[in-house]
Amino acid sequence: MRPQHIVAERAGMLNHASVPETDKLWSMQEAADYLRTSRTTLHRLKDSGELHTLQVAGTRKRLIPQSEIDRLLSEATKPRPLRYEPCIALNKDGSECRNRMASGSELCGSHLRARV
Ligand SMILES: [Zn+2]
Repeated sequence: MRPQHIVAERAGMLNHASVPETDKLWSMQEAADYLRTSRTTLHRLKDSGELHTLQVAGTRKRLIPQSEIDRLLSEATKPRPLRYEPCIALNKDGSECRNRMASGSELCGSHLRARV
């Protein structure tokens, strides 16, 4: 489902001034569908201050700026930093293997294969 592409300036009825004019606004339901979550979850994030929403003046309708959607996604997909450690094996000529791999393994792929 696509956002309604409302622009804050055109809406004119928003009681919040800090939204860039080009920021698309999503309804809670649209955002929930897009983020594969529920409106309840989004309301919980709003209540805990983790999600900034706009309230349309005179209504109870809440809208979410595109920038907030982007922020939620970037935090959700932020990869955990991997620690890379050097392979402990020596090459055939006696030099140290310079391959590095994610922690949890002592040998790089090629030395692991060579050992088996
Ligand atoms: Zn190696």
